[in-house]
Amino acid sequence: MTARKPGAPMPPALRALIHSTATHPARTVPCPHCTATAGKPCRLRTTGRHLPEPHPRRVSAWAQQTAVCPQCQVEPTVPCHDVGCARHTVHHRRHQEAEATAA
Ligand SMILES: [Zn+2]
Ligand SMILES: [Zn+2]
Repeated sequence: MTARKPGAPMPPALRALIHSTATHPARTVPCPHCTATAGKPCRLRTTGRHLPEPHPRRVSAWAQQTAVCPQCQVEPTVPCHDVGCARHTVHHRRHQEAEATAA
């Protein structure tokens, strides 16, 4: 019996893929909350510390830019609404739609 060596090292392409999915796709739009520009991580406005996750308002803005809303039937870039009443955030189903499109 010979001990098996661990498999070959991970190919760089695969590693890059894993790395890119670790970054939230909402980073492609600016954050309306902390004013982080596109491509930059969100940060705490008090200390300037970078946050691992984007602000909820940024995720909303990103979903609004990239996805249609299955709930209120609006086109990308159009804000969600509840029976004619504009919402500050997008519907949950629009988040899911945006994430499905980005995946
Ligand atoms: Zn932010
Ligand atoms: Zn909606």
